[in-house]
Amino acid sequence: MDKKVLKNLSYGVYVVTSSYNKKNAGCTLNSVMQITSNPITIAISINHDNNTNKIISYSNLFAISILKETSDPKIIGEFGFKTSKDTNKFKNVEYKLIENIPIILDSCGYIICKVIDKLETNSHTIFIGEVIKADGFTSDKPMTYKYYQEKLKGLTSKNAPTYQKEEQINEKSNNKKRRWKCKICGYVYEADELPKDFICPICGQPHTEFYEVTN
Ligand code: FE
Repeated sequence: MDKKVLKNLSYGVYVVTSSYNKKNAGCTLNSVMQITSNPITIAISINHDNNTNKIISYSNLFAISILKETSDPKIIGEFGFKTSKDTNKFKNVEYKLIENIPIILDSCGYIICKVIDKLETNSHTIFIGEVIKADGFTSDKPMTYKYYQEKLKGLTSKNAPTYQKEEQINEKSNNKKRRWKCKICGYVYEADELPKDFICPICGQPHTEFYEVTN
């Protein structure tokens, strides 16, 4: 099987949030798709290990904030490569509560769904939701997954439904510059030196969390 073919499937970049008993949860997600138009229903796929999965199961509500190309990439890092066990993901992100669910403001807009069904797989829950509210903030271009990978040089979290192990292996660069890779999110920085004040643009880690790629 040539798993590389799967990389031709197209996705967007979203933050899926939920809230239960005033506990907010959220994670970056690429697997969001509309499945019917009347009523409007949407399916999302979330790893069992994500706290957001648990909170959606309790609240039966989830919101999708649609990131735009100009959204701060740190949002992807905060919600995609950190766990709410040791960090408050909402601390440095602007949001407002709609239907008591936090909505990311630096986005194209949001869609709120009520869970009407779910399906368990080995690793992920597929939640099917009926749209109960939706609104746009801007007509800026939504961020596609390709844009995230190619322009922002972001990698796929191990919890993502589309994760492939091989992706984490660096392709050889023709470029003579040295390369450092973030241990947390996989972002690669190319330069002659890694500056001491360098901060990962995706996940916010300091230069000490980078290692030099030698292949
Ligand atoms: Fe990083």
